[in-house]
Amino acid sequence: MTETALTLRDLAEIPVTRLKGVGDKREEALAKLGITSVLDLLMFYPRRWVDRTYEARISDLVPGEETLVIGSVRRVDKRQTKNRRTMVNVSLGDGTGRLGITFFNQPWRASQLKEGMTLAVFGKADMYRNQLQMTNPIVDMVGDQTGRIVPIYPHSEKADIQTWELAGLVRNALERCASRGISDPIDVEMLAKAGLINRFDALRNIHLPESMEVRKQARDRLAFDEVFRVQAVLIGRKRALAMQSIGIAHNRGDGPAGDLVGRFLATLPFKPTGAQQRVIKEIKSDLFGPHPMHRLLQGDVGSGKTVVAVAAMLVAVQGGMQAAIMAPTEVLAEQHALGIKSLLAEFELPDAATLMGDRPLRVELLTGSVTGALRKSIMAGLADGTVDIVIGTHALIQDAVDFSRLGVVVVDEQHRFGVEQRAALRDKGAEIDGRRSTPDVLVMTATPIPRTAAMTVYGDLDVSVLDELPPGRTPIVTKWVDGPINEVGAWDDVRDAAAAGQQAYVVCPLVEESAKLEVASAEETIERLAAGELKGMRLGLLHGRMTPSEKDRVMSQFRAHELDVLVATTVIEVGVDVPNATVMVILDADRFGIAQLHQLRGRVGRGGIASRCWLVTSDHTEENPRLEALVQSTDGFLLAEVDLEIRGEGTLMSTAQKGENDLRLASLRSDREMVERARQLVQRMIDSDPNLDRHQELRDELELLLSPDDLDYLFKS
Ligand code: ADP
Ligand code: MG
Repeated sequence: MTETALTLRDLAEIPVTRLKGVGDKREEALAKLGITSVLDLLMFYPRRWVDRTYEARISDLVPGEETLVIGSVRRVDKRQTKNRRTMVNVSLGDGTGRLGITFFNQPWRASQLKEGMTLAVFGKADMYRNQLQMTNPIVDMVGDQTGRIVPIYPHSEKADIQTWELAGLVRNALERCASRGISDPIDVEMLAKAGLINRFDALRNIHLPESMEVRKQARDRLAFDEVFRVQAVLIGRKRALAMQSIGIAHNRGDGPAGDLVGRFLATLPFKPTGAQQRVIKEIKSDLFGPHPMHRLLQGDVGSGKTVVAVAAMLVAVQGGMQAAIMAPTEVLAEQHALGIKSLLAEFELPDAATLMGDRPLRVELLTGSVTGALRKSIMAGLADGTVDIVIGTHALIQDAVDFSRLGVVVVDEQHRFGVEQRAALRDKGAEIDGRRSTPDVLVMTATPIPRTAAMTVYGDLDVSVLDELPPGRTPIVTKWVDGPINEVGAWDDVRDAAAAGQQAYVVCPLVEESAKLEVASAEETIERLAAGELKGMRLGLLHGRMTPSEKDRVMSQFRAHELDVLVATTVIEVGVDVPNATVMVILDADRFGIAQLHQLRGRVGRGGIASRCWLVTSDHTEENPRLEALVQSTDGFLLAEVDLEIRGEGTLMSTAQKGENDLRLASLRSDREMVERARQLVQRMIDSDPNLDRHQELRDELELLLSPDDLDYLFKS
């Protein structure tokens, strides 16, 4: 039977019009749901299932309790209420009694529901004028379907095709598949090992299950297929990248420059954390190897990613190559340049051309505001190899910057670094034996991504995690205050901190729609504070519309403690590092997302002194799980999980719609373990059969179901 069993490709090639009862009208209605082939139909899964075992008889209904009732429509009428709302009244009967249903503001119900139709309604029954009554219940039209469990299909309520009609078509399609069966790309042994049922059973039981248990098994199998396919493509792509590109096997520290990385780590004023040491080792092992590195470094704010980045770049430099670090904004690039220049100030490299036989290690900042002679000199240095490390924005790889021997690239903040940039990078690589090499890439992000999500969103990257904060940090205490009266505590705290010789940040309300309005709001805030709560203190303003040199001036004043308080927009979100700042006040905190608040908060608590973060919202704020989560925890990974929980995974994928296409059943939240299992299975499969030559059916399915376009979103984050 396996010989002739139908593949998904076969099913995709059978038009729905071949099914009994699909004429022009139904064909059109199905097309509106995206269903043109039998495969589309079988992959159009029910939204929910009604288990008739639990249905109540109308005579048994208990007022005040939520119940499912199935009955037939006896009467429908529509009217206007006094305050001009529409009201549709339906009378439902099941032989034991009558139930009145009232729909407010759903005028279309009047034409949707007809006498004689069978409905499943779910809601709370109440007594109204001595009659049982439900208001705006959930309604499913079950038609005359038999069977204990009835599938309910999505979007069919208002479509021209009813859910029971879909069920009928699916039944017909499955019956017609029965003689040949539907083949399974995963062999029986593997299925058994993974505890999965076969695909034909899964397709049958997702649509027309005999029990809720088999429905669950069916769902698990089909969800597994989804995550399996995504992982197969990601791992396949990663492998292909590795095969196609020529990597650089970097110097291990036995060249003329010696072990630069070792010397750097030894000269740090602190001991690297265990996590830093482990991650540096992982990176070194990638860099010494022949394949291009493509690694994601996740580390919470303050976990010490800079040290790791510098160590990675020094591996390139110790072998006579160059390294670049790219930041998403100029302010950040400037911040990095300051830090990295001071970390590497004393370092020398061998240079036969000089009298002493060596020269200082050269670190340069190259952004749009570096112009004139200085820019020329840096460009020349990059082209002749005398600039060892360059710090810039992403423009570094887009502009006509020529490198002599670019070996390592560090990208700060993955979420603003897309596929195009990655491709552009490849053209900047050093020539090795006349062929262009691909620089090693380390992507750093301070936005923790839950592990499973990382595996899916960044599945083609290796991941390192800095999961340990440097010692001696006092956890930031976070308080949420609402209303002008409670807000007073925050301003008292700012004044107390200043009196004790410390500094503070005030983050202005976020105005997402307009940078101009945001600046206006920042200016208004600083005026208000200067005249009121923070009168007499030294305040500085920082926002995104200032010129780089203005920003620079304010930042250096703040760093030099010539200012007590920095009033800023979110430009301080990442990178700003002033250990003496111990208080942060975030205004209209409810306008920010969890990740952003966590980033902002990370600007304080960077020294040994206890720090506070005040989340200020206006009066009478509703419950806010995001702010509560921040008050409860300073663990970025935990907060990322909460964020995923609250927002759903749609937001992780840049276009929710496409995410829906590929992951209809699977959920990154609840199917974590499944994603890991699928990834392992794929890894084993690809290890033994790199091009899936012995897994033709699977390969074919990937091509069928995941077009390159469909997958693109996974990489553009
Ligand atoms: P991140 O970029 O991950 O937020 P940074 O690299 O900016 O963190 O480091 C935050 C602060 O911690 C810096 O002031 C840095 O000098 C300091 N730091 C980094 N590693 C250590 C360590 N192992 N021990 C003590 N302090 C450290
Ligand atoms: Mg940093």
